[in-house]
Amino acid sequence: MGNRLPGIGTVGRVAQPEGTSAQEHRTTTAEQGRFCVARCTCGWRGPARRARSLARRDAETHETGGAP
Ligand SMILES: [Zn+2]
Repeated sequence: MGNRLPGIGTVGRVAQPEGTSAQEHRTTTAEQGRFCVARCTCGWRGPARRARSLARRDAETHETGGAP
């Protein structure tokens, strides 16, 4: 078994390309109490919904570019 130390000595692990107009949107739904909120990796956050299906719909709408 190799016993390598990750993150040490490695340069340029993740290089973010410049000028990425198409930011990746990965949405998730998180439950907050009785509500469900859609979140995205870009920092977007949907409104609190009572139903998870609604929150997921918000997320899908955002992913497809429906909401800025
Ligand atoms: Zn997003």
